Amino acid sequence: MIFIANWKMFGGLNSLNSINPVIKFLKIFKNKKSVKIIYCPPTTLIYPMYKRLKNTPLMVGGQNCHENHKSGAFTGSINATMLKNVGASYVIIGHSENRRNGENNSLINQKIKSAIKSGLNVIFCIGETLGERKKKLTKKILNKQITSGLKKIKNKKKILISYEPVWAIGTGLIPKINELYETISFIKNKFKDYKVLYGGSVNPKNIKDLKTIEKLDGFLIGGASQNSKKFIDIIKKTYN
Ligand code: PEP
Repeated sequence: MIFIANWKMFGGLNSLNSINPVIKFLKIFKNKKSVKIIYCPPTTLIYPMYKRLKNTPLMVGGQNCHENHKSGAFTGSINATMLKNVGASYVIIGHSENRRNGENNSLINQKIKSAIKSGLNVIFCIGETLGERKKKLTKKILNKQITSGLKKIKNKKKILISYEPVWAIGTGLIPKINELYETISFIKNKFKDYKVLYGGSVNPKNIKDLKTIEKLDGFLIGGASQNSKKFIDIIKKTYN
């Protein structure tokens, strides 16, 4: 199972200490061989985190990147080549917090292509808003986001699709398990051979229900991943 820690815009150098218990835990966890942990801290922490995680199985990723993998006059931007250069092996693209700020499917497609060109793996986020869900548009929206986002991308192994209903992110709400099962099955049946994760308010309490969806390949965890105890609990309970 894959566990992605999205720290969003939280954390300074001191926060790096919070990964020590996770490193220790993974050394002794009996299912460690099947666990993959990817930390996506703010860009300022990628390199120090990469150095801390060297010689451990944990990996580092960025939270977004510019669509141009070559350098250019784009003040304030960071591209996938730069992320790779400081130790990232993954990058989150298409997160709803960025879609909300104007990222559309076509820009996301360009970003995914640039990340792959730079040698990064992509955590590709998709998800419907509450309004879309109420109008029963979930499948239509997901289909459009995936088809457009992955247009002309062949290397399925480089992509992890993370299904994150917008209304479940940071709200404490999760979809009903039968509905989530149906959505994950829809994605897996339509877009074969992709690994599919779930993200949205995953915590140590609801993981026991979420883990019953056997088709899932892992979880993207935001808020709870900043607390190592909660993060470890989620991983442990996924296997219990
Ligand atoms: C996220 O950052 O994508 C996320 C799922 O956050 P949270 O777990 O806090 O809902």
